Amino acid sequence: MKFIGPHVSAAGGVENAPVAANALKATAFALFTKNQRQWNAPSLSKAGIELFKQRCSEYGYASEHILPHDSYLINLGHPEKEGLEKSRAAFLDEMQRCEQLGLSLLNFHPGSSLKQISDEECLSRIAESVNIALAKTAGVCAVIENTAGQGSNLGYSFEQLAYIIDKVEDKGRVGVCLDTCHAFTAGYDLSSEAGFSETFEHFDNVVGFRYLRGMHLNDSKKGLGAHVDRHENIGLGVLGKEPFQRIMRDSRFDGIPLILETPDETRWAGEIELLTRWATG
Ligand SMILES: [Zn+2]
Ligand SMILES: [Zn+2]
Repeated sequence: MKFIGPHVSAAGGVENAPVAANALKATAFALFTKNQRQWNAPSLSKAGIELFKQRCSEYGYASEHILPHDSYLINLGHPEKEGLEKSRAAFLDEMQRCEQLGLSLLNFHPGSSLKQISDEECLSRIAESVNIALAKTAGVCAVIENTAGQGSNLGYSFEQLAYIIDKVEDKGRVGVCLDTCHAFTAGYDLSSEAGFSETFEHFDNVVGFRYLRGMHLNDSKKGLGAHVDRHENIGLGVLGKEPFQRIMRDSRFDGIPLILETPDETRWAGEIELLTRWATG
């Protein structure tokens, strides 16, 4: 079965996220558990945590279909000591928030070398950062998102994702979230049938579908290999409808959260309906 839903707002408290998802008839959702553009955030309230859990169970959202996303400020491969320590502390806080909410996944962007250290050094730092956070938490899987390779952001190739995974000690608590827009603009041609099969065959060989814990379903405003991250609504971008139809009909994408991060929210309900129809029809 396919689990589909958007990245919903948690404005006013995390407990509002499952309500927003349910209103859109979503079967999965993503959220930020704190303001994603600030370093510090107040702790989650006991009442908020309880209400979040109660509503998730009421609306039928299991933890493996909820994909929280960490703050955009965090760089787990930061070349400088101060930036790295700040990022590691913030990431641990994000993991602990997930623990408190009974969530089992945390989606994060791998990190950036800021062109000050080598790619390998940066990727090793990211893995070390993950190891540190996993050692201090329980039950939450660190889910690495592939990037478009914009600027000095790493994690744009399957080899880089595998490089990080290889250095993470607890293989049961590391996974991958593939963003279709990022993969395409990083140079993986998902738009054609041949490119689609090749890309996922390559993913399976290099990383392995066993590590796939989520997907971000985004069409792209930019072309193949543009290394620019600009999401578009499903079927309206360069990717078009077909790659999403293929994903919906492919059992390798069963059982994981398939998250929409498309720009026009007024289309979300329609996109969920359309994707669900492709999955079932
Ligand atoms: Zn992301
Ligand atoms: Zn993106």
